[in-house]
Amino acid sequence: MCRHAAWLGAPRTLASLIHEPEYGLLQQSYAPRLQRYGTINADGFGMGWYDAARAEPVRYRRTVPIWADANLPALAQVSRSGCLLAAVRSATVGMPIEETATAPFTDGRWLLSHNGRVEREAVRELADDAESSCDSAWLAAAVFVRRRAGHPLGDALAEVVAHAGAKDPGARLNLLACDGASIAATVWGDTLHLHLDDGVLVASEPLDDRPGWQAVPDRNLVLASPDGVRVQPL
Ligand code: GLN
Repeated sequence: MCRHAAWLGAPRTLASLIHEPEYGLLQQSYAPRLQRYGTINADGFGMGWYDAARAEPVRYRRTVPIWADANLPALAQVSRSGCLLAAVRSATVGMPIEETATAPFTDGRWLLSHNGRVEREAVRELADDAESSCDSAWLAAAVFVRRRAGHPLGDALAEVVAHAGAKDPGARLNLLACDGASIAATVWGDTLHLHLDDGVLVASEPLDDRPGWQAVPDRNLVLASPDGVRVQPL
């Protein structure tokens, strides 16, 4: 299982998801506290953010463990945005370890991460192609087909999870996506937590021990925008 996290609110750096919190994604890569499947997330990592200089997000992903990239701390300290997403990966058995299998996947302004596993046959019919044979890449491709058809972020995630969950009852489908102005996340088989202050943090597990973290119940969709946060059944 992987761990992922996103922020929507006043501009912050990616270090606020990875290095600064006591249990940020760096710590979660080698000592996750709530991970149900797998013990370590050392099969790569990725992050994405938005900058006024580009219409599309900036995305950085590697196949090395997050602690092994000596250039990352400085980069994460200056990658600042009001919408951020990052993930550390523990590859599912049989899945390739390559950059194209590593979240965040991106298309247009959308960034997407998957925490879980699914039989690829359950999603292959939803997209023509994917950038990797990894199950997560196929899920991302399925979501992006819906993006191009104009579906809102939350609808796109909910439709793909409903389809894949019906075809593969053993699937775990925690998806986390953002578009620069909103975040959508599904809870389907693994943990997800929210923290609201001057924005919203969405993370597989709490990034710190501050009060206010709430666990989102299984089989729910989280929608966060500047108007607020909604949690609704999938
Ligand atoms: N199945 C995905 C992969 O192999 C995600 C794995 C995970 O959540 N650990 O990358």
